[in-house]
Amino acid sequence: MKLVESQANESGKVVPERFGPAQQAAQSEGLSARDLARIAAYNERKHAGITLFSDETTIAYMIRDSLYLNITNRCSNRCTFCPKFEELTVKGHELQLQYEPDFTEVTAAIDGVGASYDEVVFCGFGESLIRLDLVKEVAAELKWRGLKVRINTDGQANLVHGRNIVPELADLIDTVSVSLNAADASTYHRLCNTPFGEEGFPGVCDFIREATHHIPTVVASAVTLPGLDVSKVRALALSLGAQFRERTYTEVG
Ligand code: SF4
Repeated sequence: MKLVESQANESGKVVPERFGPAQQAAQSEGLSARDLARIAAYNERKHAGITLFSDETTIAYMIRDSLYLNITNRCSNRCTFCPKFEELTVKGHELQLQYEPDFTEVTAAIDGVGASYDEVVFCGFGESLIRLDLVKEVAAELKWRGLKVRINTDGQANLVHGRNIVPELADLIDTVSVSLNAADASTYHRLCNTPFGEEGFPGVCDFIREATHHIPTVVASAVTLPGLDVSKVRALALSLGAQFRERTYTEVG
């Protein structure tokens, strides 16, 4: 079958009338023509019932002008709103890992992307800081190359590792985006299913507060779920010294 990916011309421009409402909405998120083409191709495969997951392991992938790294599918939280429990696909990239890559495999994947990018983001469909040693090793390599590095995290890493790991990220990470998602412990527990019980919510707050001392830009985010008082989450984020960002439901990357 000729997939919609082929509609992107040499310059990456896409014939807009071939895209449906979902793609038009995606375009409003600032996605590139190549992002839109990939999403359309994925949706076409999905609607045709073609196998959704390939045998390949996607370690490095582009969205907009950023390079994303997918190094684990494991998570510390089990967020109720997470799309990964339906399918591990984001913006047309299939992110189910067949194995967890090591340093050599991650750097080879980065080198194989063949595109330019403004920043590198540890994200994927998993909690990258579970693999703290690999994050530090790869981030050091990226900084040596002069690249900006961001990490998206659930902020539970200090609980996962049983120590304050944030100072270990200093000089390696330029921006950390932490999923705060709630302004109180019971809401956090209900939405994020932290395995750390009562420690989970103070844990993410402590992580954010600590990060503001070691990482240049700290952003706390909340998914705009029905019934969530986003203004309270914003106020908490600002009181912790972080910036705040609302995220649309199912927005990943
Ligand atoms: S939202 Fe993030 S931390 Fe939560 S389950 Fe999904 S990938 Fe894991």
